[in-house]
Amino acid sequence: ESSICAPLPVLGQNVTVPLVTGGEVTYAALDYAASAPALQRVWDDVAAYAPYYGSVHRGAGYLSQLSTDLFENSRRTVAEFLGCRADDQVVFTRSTTDSLNLLAAAIPADCQVFVYETEHHASLLPWRDAQVTYLNAPRTPAQAVESLERALADRDPYGPALVCVTGASNVTGELWPVKELAAAAHAHGARIVLDAAQLAPHHPVDIAELDVDWVAFSGHKLYAPFGSGVLAGRADWLQAAEPYLAGGGASRKVARRADGGVDVDWHTTAARHEAGSPNVIGVYSIASACKALTEAGFEGLVAREQELVGRVREGLAEVPEVQVLSLFGDDAPRVGVISFVVRGWNSSHFAAALSAEYGIGVRDGLFCAHPLVRTLLGSDPQDPGECGAPEAEPGERSLNAIRVSFGAGTPDEHIDRFLRAVS
Ligand code: PMP
Repeated sequence: ESSICAPLPVLGQNVTVPLVTGGEVTYAALDYAASAPALQRVWDDVAAYAPYYGSVHRGAGYLSQLSTDLFENSRRTVAEFLGCRADDQVVFTRSTTDSLNLLAAAIPADCQVFVYETEHHASLLPWRDAQVTYLNAPRTPAQAVESLERALADRDPYGPALVCVTGASNVTGELWPVKELAAAAHAHGARIVLDAAQLAPHHPVDIAELDVDWVAFSGHKLYAPFGSGVLAGRADWLQAAEPYLAGGGASRKVARRADGGVDVDWHTTAARHEAGSPNVIGVYSIASACKALTEAGFEGLVAREQELVGRVREGLAEVPEVQVLSLFGDDAPRVGVISFVVRGWNSSHFAAALSAEYGIGVRDGLFCAHPLVRTLLGSDPQDPGECGAPEAEPGERSLNAIRVSFGAGTPDEHIDRFLRAVS
């Protein structure tokens, strides 16, 4: 009990929103899986830095030097946060989507890619120029490992291969057996990238301990503002690849050739994939969030979040019309991300009612994981269907779901209100 952390101060806790029934109420942000509110601490750090704002890299002025230090120190903070190995690189990107697309552009031309159909589209789709094997949705963590092993055993053992897997599902919140999957990948000579977009805000992620080759995550889900992300891990493929963006900062030396063309000598550091003026504030925010979470202590944050997860699961179980979506079974360990459908309700209408009548912000839809949600709802994962507002009449099966998600800043009152509203 004593290790449970109090909710961390976040922005927006006192924002009031109008109710359709009259009056107003403080907004209950229960859509952390889409974007978490920024930590007050991150906001304060950014505000304290703002007067010292200067151009980074190569600026000769004092504030430029200070900003450059801040930017490069942020890289070290993130490397520490992720438990990076000595020769890993931390590349700053715009988001998880950007990080995974960067990696997809950097894999060797003959790389085989293995990805579960259950992934978020950001991990499912970037590999389509490669030779991709899509693995069916497993129904247990052990099945996930078995199906990967089977698929890898069939591959050309001499060519490069990459496995892409999520650490925690953005739909069910369920934890994937990352360490076991990494061991399976490596046993078959493949590499593995971890989509930690939903894992990093809720759990410590240690690259070396998990033995994954790369990790990707987004600042805006880790209690920092929008616009920055991370790809961290093995340098070799990244440095052998063409720069993700061509431009200043990525190039070490550029010269005209005698034949009239241009020769470029690209950097072999993280800068190779960071052309253009970087998002210094975004990067600094990520580092600040990493520090804040580490200082608050993940153990206490996880303990509190798990308490909330337990309360939401129990509360939802008391409403007979509610069906919680789960791939690995109701008791599978999960982070504070829970999707469900309500018999007799269209999920979009239900989510709209939570907002209009209770000031609660959740998400409805297929959560950018269409094949997974279709599997969970018992519809055909191959049916292109429609994303958005499918109509389910009372008694009909839902075609989309409602997702409630929370984390380090969530007060008890938001969970109480949510459970009251659902019941
Ligand atoms: N992977 C997962 C598991 C996610 O939940 C998300 C965001 N919903 C992403 C990737 C993509 O993150 P971003 O939108 O920040 O690029």
